[in-house]
Amino acid sequence: MYQGKKIFVFGMARSGYEVAKLLSHYDNEIVVADAVEQDAEHVAELNDYRVKVEITDDPAKLLNDTFDVVVKNPGIKADHPLLNLARELNIPIVNELEVAYHFMDHDAQIIGVTGSNGKTTTINLVHEFLIKEKNDVILGGNIGTPLSHYVQDIKPSTILALEISDHQLCDMYDFKTNVSVVTNITPTHLDFHGSFEHYKATKHRIFNNHTAQDYAILNTNNEESLKMAEDIPSQKVYYGSNNLDKCYFDQRAIYYDGEEVVELKEILLKGKHNYENICAAIAAVKVYGISDSAIREVLAEFKGVEHRLEFVAEYNGVKYYNDSKATNCVSTNIALQSFNEPTILLLGGTDRGHSFYDLQDSMGHVKAIVAYGETKHRIADFAKDLNIDCKVCDTLTDAMNIVKELRASGDVVLLSPACASWDQYAKFEDRGDEFKRLVKEIN
Ligand code: ADP
Repeated sequence: MYQGKKIFVFGMARSGYEVAKLLSHYDNEIVVADAVEQDAEHVAELNDYRVKVEITDDPAKLLNDTFDVVVKNPGIKADHPLLNLARELNIPIVNELEVAYHFMDHDAQIIGVTGSNGKTTTINLVHEFLIKEKNDVILGGNIGTPLSHYVQDIKPSTILALEISDHQLCDMYDFKTNVSVVTNITPTHLDFHGSFEHYKATKHRIFNNHTAQDYAILNTNNEESLKMAEDIPSQKVYYGSNNLDKCYFDQRAIYYDGEEVVELKEILLKGKHNYENICAAIAAVKVYGISDSAIREVLAEFKGVEHRLEFVAEYNGVKYYNDSKATNCVSTNIALQSFNEPTILLLGGTDRGHSFYDLQDSMGHVKAIVAYGETKHRIADFAKDLNIDCKVCDTLTDAMNIVKELRASGDVVLLSPACASWDQYAKFEDRGDEFKRLVKEIN
């Protein structure tokens, strides 16, 4: 299918580079176009494979009806002029994962996780559970290395654990999973999709080409995802907080098939949302027979994905959590609702004019706020209204020095800033890394 063809790879970065390299081994004529300068070594390597790389603001001028297919980077919006032209010319538009799938051994198994929230946490758990008892497991998709890079090494015994974003689902047709997990569906990414209906229709593609041999892992706490899956032929496995679900959690433990798998107190991850993610991952790996003991071992050690309510350390009875990815109040609310302990909350960052009052219902156990960054004064006003002790400072370093004075055994210290990091950092990862460094420094 992708042999002896003329192929336009739109958007290079890592996935465009990998897919162009893969396709170059199959007698294809390939043009890669991108708007920004690319890694010189990668460009030189592609040129060696006779792939043309064009850096241009007007890629549409390079496309004409002699091309057989456009491979689109998932980040590019569907209404880009080049893509409109491709549609006018009846040139199919696909993405890297779809192309790589065609080169894969189809006896290998694919577990695909999608959803509005919780994808990365869930797929990482799936991967950790699987590697305890299976030899040949690969984690990829939207995270890590593009499938094109290793597709030729995949064997019939391989299990692929893939995070699949809605952007990737847009341009997939033949790609098919054996087990599809939908964590939840909420109205997000509407700027990209135009409407909630379109977003749901895109997410529905995670079940593409499913038959009664395949599995759909569905969250009974999320009505939208259940509705979305009404018409699929797959075997449905339900999880959530209902004791009729195949996998469910209550205040005490997580259960599968009516049997207790693990007590919550043995699990390092915190929060109802994470118990949902754990149930989703358990339901997925039980298809492959992973044992309860392997699951328990992972959950006793898994600290969470970096910067997402990540457990950092415990010193003198004080637990530190890094939730730097929380750049809005929705995420900070989820983090706050994950604890009952007296909490010192580090809040602040880029001022986008958003209100902090959305947090007020989750503040019952917050013993102090340390406000820093551009939003510090607005946070102080909010804390004053709620009668919560609030210290104001400029930087995260200052904030951690204040934490030193406030903390007591039994406390949680939570960086969940409810703001973007750009006032002081290039990205939220840098903020989280600095927090983790400071935690060690003040102890
Ligand atoms: P994604 O990959 O879908 O962005 P992550 O696992 O990286 O999801 O989690 C990102 C954030 O989404 C978390 O910090 C938390 O605030 C929120 N979140 C995670 N899991 C869930 C869930 N099951 N339901 C609701 N929110 C969640």
